[in-house]
Amino acid sequence: MTSQRVYLDYNATAPLLPDARAAMIAALELAGNASSVHADGRAARAMIEKARLQIAALLNAQSSEVVFTSGATESNTWALASGWDTIFVAGVEHVSVLAAAEASGAQVVKLAVDGAGRLTPEGLSVAIANAGPSGRALLSVQMANNETGVLQDVPALTSVARDARIAVHTDAVQACGRLAVDFTALGVDFMSVSAHKMGGPKGAGALIIRDGVSLKPLLAGGGQERRRRGGTENIAGIAGFGAAADAVVRQAERVTDLRALRDGLERHILDMTPHAVVISQAADRLPNTTCVALPGTHSETLVIKLDLAGVSISAGSACSSGKVGASHVLAAMQIPDQLAGCAVRISIGAETNGKDIAAFLDAWGHVAARTGKAA
Ligand code: PMP
Repeated sequence: MTSQRVYLDYNATAPLLPDARAAMIAALELAGNASSVHADGRAARAMIEKARLQIAALLNAQSSEVVFTSGATESNTWALASGWDTIFVAGVEHVSVLAAAEASGAQVVKLAVDGAGRLTPEGLSVAIANAGPSGRALLSVQMANNETGVLQDVPALTSVARDARIAVHTDAVQACGRLAVDFTALGVDFMSVSAHKMGGPKGAGALIIRDGVSLKPLLAGGGQERRRRGGTENIAGIAGFGAAADAVVRQAERVTDLRALRDGLERHILDMTPHAVVISQAADRLPNTTCVALPGTHSETLVIKLDLAGVSISAGSACSSGKVGASHVLAAMQIPDQLAGCAVRISIGAETNGKDIAAFLDAWGHVAARTGKAA
């Protein structure tokens, strides 16, 4: 990314933190395989175990509960692919959760969300009673939505699921690094996390598995990760992930600044373009995310025009696919296609400052004026 560009797409991926980069470079210098008993192997092993402790500290988990994966897509797939008879899931989940649920062979019970995209404990109770799940059942619920930033009440939903003897998986990808995430206090069985959303490298993540809960490996093989995930460890990725987690722990106060920047951004957008709609503005949301629709201007047009003005943002669910299509999240929230088709996501992070926001607003004003709707 060049310094002139304004990067406001942290929910797609965050820039690599300097600490993560340094840890990765150090790891790349190591010759050993962490499974080897010799000194080279032990040095690689030590790096992995250090990262495991750093991630456990960020999440308030036991280090024995952290299993490294290639990222949250793998973590989600693994959690959902493990012989469940019934899976409860809402339409606002990330595609990797929805696809894994469909592929699992389980009975998939789709949960309705309210207009802000939230599940309610009452709605979950009714859905469980109606489905009458038998055998092994799982609820998969995200902590925060990648498009709107809307938070789910995971503790309340977990308590409803627990009463019905349903296991719980949470996709905490977007919450980690932006909110305090406490695996132990949440009481869930499984949690997916990804390094690259918090300043670590792409292609590294973890599934946190509560001690005492067993999960059939998705990848068998060499018995790595205490026989839970086969494959020679991605030491540089893991070391970078650990260093990013450690940096997040040390910079927790940044979150308050993000909220002030994001709220200011929304105020200015609404002043400049009063017909704009901030999706789920009144709901509890991540402090770094805003999803805004500018009626009359298609999301694709906004993203392209802002890109030409040097600003990177996303449209709909473009974060993983690179293509601009209708957002399944906004559709699950019953937002009319006409409005959903005009929604873009602006997501900020640790490096975002007031100058970036000013540059964005300048570009937004120009684009809106050219589409004839500026105030
Ligand atoms: N879940 C959510 C909520 C996400 O936003 C993403 C990334 N867009 C993923 C899962 C997948 O993570 P990864 O890129 O590590 O596979």
